[in-house]
Amino acid sequence: MIAGRSGHTARVALTIIVAALADAGLKVGATYGPGHADLKVRATYEPAQTPTFDLVIRGGLVVDGTGAARFRADVGIRGDRIVSVDRNGIAADQAAQTLSAAGLVVAPGFIDHHAHIQTNIHEYPLAENFTRQGITTILASLHSGSQPWPLDAYMARLKVAPNVGFFAGHSWARTRVIGLEDRAPTAAELEEMKQLVGESMQQGALGLSTGLVYVPANYAKTEEVIELAKVAARHGGIYVSHMRDEATGLLDSVAELIRIAEEAGLPGQIQHHKAVGVTQWGWSEKTLAMIDAARARGLDITLDLYPYTASSTGSSVLFPQWALAGGRQAFARRIADPAQREKIEREMRDIFEKERGGGDLKNVQFRSVGSDRRYDGRTLADLAADRGLPNSIESGIALVIELQLAGGFSAIYHAMHEDDVRRIMRHPVAMFDTDGDPVGFGVGFPHPRSYGTFPRVLGRYVREQQVLTLEEAIRKMTSLSADQIGQPERGRIAPGMYADITVFDAEAIADRATFEDPHQYPVGIRHVIVNGTPIIRGGALTGATPGRVLKGPARQR
Ligand SMILES: [Zn+2]
Repeated sequence: MIAGRSGHTARVALTIIVAALADAGLKVGATYGPGHADLKVRATYEPAQTPTFDLVIRGGLVVDGTGAARFRADVGIRGDRIVSVDRNGIAADQAAQTLSAAGLVVAPGFIDHHAHIQTNIHEYPLAENFTRQGITTILASLHSGSQPWPLDAYMARLKVAPNVGFFAGHSWARTRVIGLEDRAPTAAELEEMKQLVGESMQQGALGLSTGLVYVPANYAKTEEVIELAKVAARHGGIYVSHMRDEATGLLDSVAELIRIAEEAGLPGQIQHHKAVGVTQWGWSEKTLAMIDAARARGLDITLDLYPYTASSTGSSVLFPQWALAGGRQAFARRIADPAQREKIEREMRDIFEKERGGGDLKNVQFRSVGSDRRYDGRTLADLAADRGLPNSIESGIALVIELQLAGGFSAIYHAMHEDDVRRIMRHPVAMFDTDGDPVGFGVGFPHPRSYGTFPRVLGRYVREQQVLTLEEAIRKMTSLSADQIGQPERGRIAPGMYADITVFDAEAIADRATFEDPHQYPVGIRHVIVNGTPIIRGGALTGATPGRVLKGPARQR
C-alpha cells in the first residue's frame, strides 16, 4: 500500500512501480482509495504473460538416451535444465527462444570417454573438433604425460564450451615420485604416489587412469596399480586404462585389468578396446567373453572404443620397452652397443610383423616427425623410397631407429580389422571415445578420430551398416556413459535432466575426416546445447562457454 501525499506524486510513484513489476513479469492492478489518499497495489503472478521456457526445441524426434524407441516431442528448457518433454507440443508463446528440429533427431549430448585434453583444453575453449561432433562432455583420462596440478585450481579457472571431467594419472604420479626409472617404488615412494592419487580424488577426479604400455607406467607391476586403484576406490572412483598390451599380450592385459578392478574393489573400464596386429585379429571374441564372465561374477567391467581400424600413438610402441628405459641418452648407448642393437632389432622385427602393420611400411603413417617436418602426413614407405630403400621390415627398423635417436615421432598405425571394431561396438557395455586431441583447424596431421568419431558411428555403423540401432548407439553415447561417471542427471532427455542436447540429421550425419585429409568437420550436426546454452546453433559455433567440470565421486562410497 502506498500512502500518497498528493494524487500527482502517488501517480508518478505508482507508474514507476507498475513498470518495474511488469518488467519482472508480474501483472499489476491498482485501486485508488477514497480521496486518492490511499492507493492499493495488487501484484499477481500470471505465467501466461511470460514465456515458460528459455528455449524450446521444436518438432524433433526424441531419442531419449535410455534405448527407448524414438518419439515426436517438443523439449522445453529453463535455465540449465530440461523441464518439459511434451508429445503434444509446446505453444509458441511459451518459448523465449526456439530452435527448429523438424525432421531431426533430438538426443542427449554425446560423452567422449577419452581424449588428450587434460593439460591443454584451456587453449581450445570452444573445443571445436569435439563439439562439432555433437560431444557435450569430454573426459580427460590420461594414459601418458601429466595431469594439471593442483587439479582443483586448474578446474576452477576453466571456461570452455563442453563439460569436462578429470582423472588422477598413474603415469603422472609415478614420474613425479620416481622419474623415468625402471624399478618398483620403495614403500615410502608408493605412499607418496597414493597421496597424490588421494589428493586428486579429493579435488574432484573421477577415478584413476593408467597407460600401462607407456614409459614409465609399463615399469609398474600390477600390485602397484592395485594399491593406487584402492585409493581411488575409497573415494568412489573408477579405474580406466590403456592396457599394457593391445596386441600379442591382449588377453593377459584384459585379465590384468579385471584383476585390478576385482582386488581394488572398483569398476574397471578398458579404454579404446581393440585387437592390434594381424595375428590378433578376431581376438575380440575372446576378450568380450572374458568381460562377460567377469560381469557374470558381479564385477563391473566395461569398455570404450573408437570406430577406426588404425590407431595413433608415439614411436615408442615400435620398440621393446626395455630399450627406451632411462630416456634418449640411455637408448643411444644401447644402440651403439652391437650386441644390444641386434637384440633390439630382433624384437622390433616381431613388433613390426605381429603388431604394427605387418611388413608393409605404408601402414605406418607419420603424424609428426620433429626432426624432419617434411614427412608429416607421409608414410614410412615414402621415407624408405626417398632413401632408395626397399619397402621391407629391415628398412623400417633402420629408419625408425634413426628417427628415434633424433627424438622420435608420432604416427598412425593401420593394424586393426573392422570385424573386431564392429564386434566390440555391439557389446552392451561398450561406450565411445575419440582418443582425440584438441586441434587447430588445418594444423598438423591428426588421426581423423579427432574430427569424426561420433558422426562416424551414427553414419557408417548405424545408418549404413546397421551394426547398432540408432537408439542403442545413442544409449551408449549418453545414459550408459553418464551413469559410468556418476552423472545420472545427464545423458537423458527427460524433465529434470541437465540440458545437454545434440540435434542432428540421422539421414545425413557422417564423418568427413580421412587419414589423408583429416581436417574436415563432420556433416549433419545442427544444434548442440550444453547446460541449457547453445554452443552450436544451425551448424555454427555461438562462442558460448557454458561447460562445467563434472566431479566425482563416480560411485557411492
Ligand atoms: Zn591410450
